[in-house]
Amino acid sequence: MHPFDFTRASDTREALDAGRRGGRYIAGGTTLVDLMRETVERPGTLVDISPLPLREVAVTERGGLRIGALVSMSEAAAHPKVRTLFPVISEALELSASAQLRNMATLGGNIMQRTRCTYFRDVTADCNKRDPGSGCAALRGHNRTHAILGTSDHCVATHPSDVAVAFAALEARVRLLGPDGERQVPFADFLLRPGNTPQREQAIKEGELITAVEIPAQPRPLKSGYLKVRDRQSYEFALTSAAVALHVRGGVIREAKVAAGGVGAVPWKLSAVERHLIGERPSEGLWEAAARRAADGARPLRHNRFKVELLKRTVERQLRVVGGTK
Ligand code: SF4
Repeated sequence: MHPFDFTRASDTREALDAGRRGGRYIAGGTTLVDLMRETVERPGTLVDISPLPLREVAVTERGGLRIGALVSMSEAAAHPKVRTLFPVISEALELSASAQLRNMATLGGNIMQRTRCTYFRDVTADCNKRDPGSGCAALRGHNRTHAILGTSDHCVATHPSDVAVAFAALEARVRLLGPDGERQVPFADFLLRPGNTPQREQAIKEGELITAVEIPAQPRPLKSGYLKVRDRQSYEFALTSAAVALHVRGGVIREAKVAAGGVGAVPWKLSAVERHLIGERPSEGLWEAAARRAADGARPLRHNRFKVELLKRTVERQLRVVGGTK
């Protein structure tokens, strides 16, 4: 590990000052410390933001939900408002990592976590994300777990977060605080596709701090849930996953929010699936036909062609579970 300075911010102003001077924010540290040990990340200064008052879960004036950036994954998953209003968020969190990690890791850190591509973490391998311009070892290497949607010729890594898939489905917004004040970024614009610059992963400016994730109010009743398919049943990243929320009134689907994980360079909103569902009556045939659109535009690699079919089946199964025809 490379030497670094460490400072603790006692309030937001101190944190932003340190961030403006190039400090890297750290809270749970469950990703960053690993990356520092592997010398993938070499920050000169770490700024501990744990003391900041960003630990609230609150219903917003408009009936949405705001989750503070420093709420731990386990606290968020167990919170009564999260469980009642958006079970898809609780389920995505509970299916992530291990209990120990969920107790340490924060919501803000979770959405900022970096890819689990093994070449990214191997400093002897070519990796455009870690070392821009060096190439992408995964393109010709072992790419079974890599992405099939939203990739580029420069990077084919997946985004590893589960809860980010739920946030993408629900069209959450990320609240940021920086030297120029507060702003909100739609979740769909916050995590960046690799394009020509895979080293740029979030639409966050230098020194900006995530303060909360806000989920907009949804029509009620809303049924939702998360399905994760993986090689083993615990402590494993998704091969495919599906976050689904449906608002059914008068026997007709009025609103559908669907996104997939484990398959995209970023959590992948399935707009074509949503369009196929809205205005229709739940039925076995509808789930199957809608899920057929889940892999539209997929560009599978040598070892992950199976993800195309697996994604469709994952989405179909979760539509059936949430839609109540299981
Ligand atoms: Fe690096 Fe992305 Fe290629 Fe993995 S897929 S080696 S993260 S450039």
